[in-house]
Amino acid sequence: MTDRLYYRNSALLTFEAEIVDTGAFENRFYTVLDRSAFYPTSGGQLFDTGTLNEIAVIDVIESEDKEVLHITEVPVGKEGDTVTGKVDKQRRLKNRQVHTAQHILSQAFIKVCGAETVSVHLGEEYATIELNAADISDDNLLKTEKLANKVVEDNLPVDIIFADDELLKYLPIRKIPEREGELRVIKIGDFECSACGGTHCNRTAEVGFIKIVGTEKIRGHVQIKFLAGNLALMDYMNRFMVTNRLSKAFTCHVNDLPDKIEKLTQDYKTAQKKITQLQKELLPARAELLAGEAKMAGKVKACCRIISDLDNNAVNFLTALVADKIKGLALFMTGEWLFLAVADKTPFDAGELMKQLALQMQLKGGGSRKAAQAGGIEPDKFEEYKDFILKLVNE
Ligand SMILES: [Zn+2]
Repeated sequence: MTDRLYYRNSALLTFEAEIVDTGAFENRFYTVLDRSAFYPTSGGQLFDTGTLNEIAVIDVIESEDKEVLHITEVPVGKEGDTVTGKVDKQRRLKNRQVHTAQHILSQAFIKVCGAETVSVHLGEEYATIELNAADISDDNLLKTEKLANKVVEDNLPVDIIFADDELLKYLPIRKIPEREGELRVIKIGDFECSACGGTHCNRTAEVGFIKIVGTEKIRGHVQIKFLAGNLALMDYMNRFMVTNRLSKAFTCHVNDLPDKIEKLTQDYKTAQKKITQLQKELLPARAELLAGEAKMAGKVKACCRIISDLDNNAVNFLTALVADKIKGLALFMTGEWLFLAVADKTPFDAGELMKQLALQMQLKGGGSRKAAQAGGIEPDKFEEYKDFILKLVNE
């Protein structure tokens, strides 16, 4: 059985070991060592990466019989060979920070609102804790986050304890798992104590800081999304860059951004309303001009055009105005929409015509007898759409 060096020392990154087994593993190769500092994916924590004799370790798996399999693209060596293992420092640090943060947060949620952790996932980019609670109030989220960061600030020792049944009686462990023999326990000062096989910081200050970044409902429980250490720092840097850009663009302080954006959104809505109103006032004159361009197309007088300076509402309105004015048919296109209208006393059905066009040209369209619309059109196919509609009305 591999001696798991990280069990006793999570800071150990370089080690010497002997190969005890090798073989093929899904088009790749596995190596088992007599001792290893590499953490295999388990207990919600991701595997370490690094090298064995300079060969990249791309995955580390715990086999069914609890051996640690180091997965590589090429064989590392043969049984009896000595290897030098190097664990990737940054990835290990990230895993230690996030895992220790998870223990702190899990205990903080119990202390603040009695919510116990039922599952954890410590991912590449963020980590989650599923709590046995349907919801956590914003106030309790804030209190939990503050308590967790106070534990970081207090720089408590994170001790690894191998506890037998006797010692277990004296440890306030959150949840004692089914097992035989010694239990590995992670104890964070007098704040938190739980059974765990993961890699942790030596002291809580190494966690950096802990930030809850979201909540989600799953299986009737609330799931807390959080960041810690370098992940939290990278997130902060990214958010700083974004808010800094916004604050320059809106020439205001970051704190004033929400009010500024709310005001701009209101101003935009008011301006849109004004534009719609002005367009409506101008439309009768525009309809008059367009009606003058209308020509007989077989049995019907038609006006067909691309209109690029009005919004959808205005074009829809204009189509009806022109159709009535020429006592015929108007077909206008704007952006990716097609608008069709027919005058009252014509024998055509705009909705029906549009439905047939949509069927033929794979568009999404329909409407009433007087007016119809189609979306998802291809702007350079206007002539095809027009010819199809005029052909239908002349059949
Ligand atoms: Zn753990």
